[in-house]
Amino acid sequence: MRVPTDKEIEEAKEYLRQRLDAELSMRTNLQIVMIEAAKQIIDISYRYKISPELFRFSANRQLQEEVDAIILSLLEIIEDYTYTLAVATHEDNKDAIITCITRESYGKTFTQRAREYVDRFSKEVETAIAAGLLLNLSKDKLLSSIRQSVKTPLLNEHVQRAISKGYPIISRLGVQESFGVGRTVSSWTALSDLTEYAVAEGWMKHWELQAKACGAVGFFVMRGSSYPCNICDDEVGFHVEWDKLPPYHGHCKCFAVPVSAI
Ligand SMILES: [Zn+2]
Repeated sequence: MRVPTDKEIEEAKEYLRQRLDAELSMRTNLQIVMIEAAKQIIDISYRYKISPELFRFSANRQLQEEVDAIILSLLEIIEDYTYTLAVATHEDNKDAIITCITRESYGKTFTQRAREYVDRFSKEVETAIAAGLLLNLSKDKLLSSIRQSVKTPLLNEHVQRAISKGYPIISRLGVQESFGVGRTVSSWTALSDLTEYAVAEGWMKHWELQAKACGAVGFFVMRGSSYPCNICDDEVGFHVEWDKLPPYHGHCKCFAVPVSAI
């Protein structure tokens, strides 16, 4: 195999930039749809007039059903955004891209993981609403605090205040509290990592199929960021096995330059 030309390197870099734009769009849209779902769930929950000390979605069957419908719809919207941004303009390879990102990986499919995370999100919102009702907060104030604490939902100022006033809402609602020392599991973080990775994989699947169609026999991997990473450093260089294409982990910015024989 020959060394890639400067022009080929530039093309691969440009493709990476476009892929990163798609990943960023995923992240932005994800946050918008999650906050919208939270808003809807708050509106419904406040309407049911459940005693604050006893509030939980399951306190009223109809409330639970309405929340379940919103969460299911959120899951579908997230899947839809992910598939759309993973395929982007590469319609010719749509089926292969969707097959790739929805495959079972480490025992779970994309949808199974997304389902777990939206369920976790529903628990986070339930906790925040319990705090909002206990503290007699307006719906707007509660929603804005959810938006601000999207990465650390259990550290939400109102949740923390309710706890300090003696209402053990996190344990009462059975929310998984911690993940490592002092860290809170955030459904938003989990979902953005999952969906951005799927978008990246979708783009790289197209890159692979396009390169093969053009007669590439392998590819040369280069780092697209100087962030210290042993995993990525180890992959720099020529590869002939296409399953070695980046991304090698979430937020990986390595790029691959297809190389034809001679
Ligand atoms: Zn990398």
